[in-house]
Amino acid sequence: MTRDPRYDILFEPLKIGPKTAPNRFYQVPHCNGMGRVYPNAMVGMRGMKAQGGWGIVCTEQCDFYASGDASPYAETNMWDKGDEVYLGRMCEEVHKYGSLAGIELVHNGHDTPNLYSREVPIGPMHRPMNWSMAPIQARAMDKQDIRDYRRAHRQAAIRARDIGFDLVIVYAGHDGTVPSHFLAKRHNQRTDEYGGSLENRLRLFRELLEEAKDAVGHDVAVTARFAVDEMMGPDGLEWHAEGREAVEMLAEIPDLWDVNVADWDNDSKTSRFAPEGYQEEYVAFVKQVTTKPVSTVGRYTSPDAMISAIKRGIVDLIGAARPSIADPFLPNKVEEGRLEDIRECIGCNVCVGWTQMTAPARCTQNPTFSEEWRKDWHPESLPPAEADGHVLIVGSGPSGLEAARAVGLRGYQVTLAEAEDELGGRVTRESKLPGLSAWARVRDYRVGQIQKMTNVEIYRASRLSAEQVLELGADHIAIATGATWRRDGYGRNLTSPVPGSDAGHVLTPDDILNGSRPSGKNVLIFDDDHYYMASVMAELLASEGYEVSLATPMPTIATFMTHTLEHGANQDRLLESGVALLPNAALEAIESGKARLFDDILGRTVERDADAVLMVTSRTPNDGLYHEVQQALEAASDTSVQTLSRIGDCQAPGIIATSVYEGHRFARDLGKTVDPVDVPFRRERIAIEQAAGGAG
Ligand code: ADP
Ligand code: SF4
Repeated sequence: MTRDPRYDILFEPLKIGPKTAPNRFYQVPHCNGMGRVYPNAMVGMRGMKAQGGWGIVCTEQCDFYASGDASPYAETNMWDKGDEVYLGRMCEEVHKYGSLAGIELVHNGHDTPNLYSREVPIGPMHRPMNWSMAPIQARAMDKQDIRDYRRAHRQAAIRARDIGFDLVIVYAGHDGTVPSHFLAKRHNQRTDEYGGSLENRLRLFRELLEEAKDAVGHDVAVTARFAVDEMMGPDGLEWHAEGREAVEMLAEIPDLWDVNVADWDNDSKTSRFAPEGYQEEYVAFVKQVTTKPVSTVGRYTSPDAMISAIKRGIVDLIGAARPSIADPFLPNKVEEGRLEDIRECIGCNVCVGWTQMTAPARCTQNPTFSEEWRKDWHPESLPPAEADGHVLIVGSGPSGLEAARAVGLRGYQVTLAEAEDELGGRVTRESKLPGLSAWARVRDYRVGQIQKMTNVEIYRASRLSAEQVLELGADHIAIATGATWRRDGYGRNLTSPVPGSDAGHVLTPDDILNGSRPSGKNVLIFDDDHYYMASVMAELLASEGYEVSLATPMPTIATFMTHTLEHGANQDRLLESGVALLPNAALEAIESGKARLFDDILGRTVERDADAVLMVTSRTPNDGLYHEVQQALEAASDTSVQTLSRIGDCQAPGIIATSVYEGHRFARDLGKTVDPVDVPFRRERIAIEQAAGGAG
């Protein structure tokens, strides 16, 4: 197949300063939790993007001297020659496929805790840092600090060129770098030539751009990554005011304007809070004020939205972080006319969440992300089956569907049995909740792929018993029967059933998903899960006219959402929906029409009206079938069954990404002898210096 000529524009080369990008697919810098800590894994991941057709592949943040140490985050750094080795390897991998390599030079300024380097943080003003509310204060940069900082930046640009990078990105975005701190009035009350007027506050960014151009501009592209709007009204940059004026003042200096909104929470909004292309309205002016190429992001996964953004004159390049994580081969699939094979990002920010926890990122849609090097997993291919075999998969949630797709791709004969009429398990059910429709892409991609395979048979409305499972005579069985929300309140906080939780007016998310509704008006949701479910349930019930309160033992609502950058937006949405928020409140007892909560701040029990209580605490695996089959196999004297596995929530309830990963892993491991005690992947080793002779 070849590409539809409609998409030709995406494959037109684009001149960016002295370099030419082979196409319009621009993998913008993105954190990934690997960086300098797991450099082989990082290189493997970046190389995969280039192999998949991304014309420009960038590093994540790269801090360039010890005063801007991004620890504890696993970013890249380039402090001295030792760092050139792995960054050079990344360039080699990216160049192997004809793509350009970009590097994002960063100093996180007054929010750099310098945990590793122990240098004193610097910024425009003396101020305590916001990062983790750490008891660390940044020092106002004096003229010498500014000169040193500029010198380090210039040296970094030269080093980046010498290592092999094609683009040097000068970064003033996300309210997270020295030049963006200087630009913001709220951070910069200096009275020298770097403070006051916009021209003065922009001076440092201008100097960095000009000095990088002067140092390496003949050899590499020097680009600006710039947030034109901080989404805080006149308290910050606004695209129609200083955001625009700033771009106008520097319009022709960089070779490319890569523009977005700040801070990171706003730039990487989830699909629950923003649609595809949501940044267009903020950045649309940029092409009108510069002749240089322009790029933006906005979770573009649809080639039609991409060409539309280019044709409407908003951008020249399609910037993408998450869509390139979910599908490193998106460009090649467009090129090959295989749009139906695109694995679209669902906009859940699980990738961000794990990065924020300083772990290698994982992706709900792409189970091979971060595993390219350490497990040698390719997102588009799996090794063929080592022997013929029939695989039965019971349950078609994300784990069962991914297992069926991947096992099918290996060439096994697959039977997929699903109790319900509809495939997809929890993603089908949850995608009907407010704001979660994109969850269904997890199902749709997999069902679409499976339907092309002649070796995968699907049986719907087939709730299998242990007897039926065995009757099917499969060689390998995977039980993927999911999990059930608990009604008794057991979770992190409560380790024994809440008195009254056996009453008829206690509901679980499964009840709501199955169509049940509280009988009275007042609903108390008890959230000891701390992710999205309780909040989405609250939003749903509030929209249906219930008086909803959401109680949690934590001091913040939906605490895990601080990792996925959704915490603020989630809380705003709950407040707009009229949901009463009750932090620091642990459920003690449920009575008729009431719930008793222990308020940790008041130090006493309080009562709330509650015609119904919705428990969102934890889930129990639906592993009854697994155990029955296991027992039957143990009792059987003669069986063809070679392996029995449980995967996904049936093994241990988790996020959708975990189910997809475990389904994929099952498929990869099939036919292999896996010793659970062995390390299941290649490890990164840090070289230890030889002991100095004679010391001691
Ligand atoms: P996971 O996230 O692990 O994939 P889900 O809860 O999303 O789990 O999916 C489990 C699926 O298994 C559901 O669609 C459910 O209907 C199905 N299922 C549960 N028990 C059986 C059974 N005995 N036979 C067939 N399908 C089953
Ligand atoms: Fe997209 Fe979610 Fe994957 Fe991140 S984890 S790339 S948001 S699907």
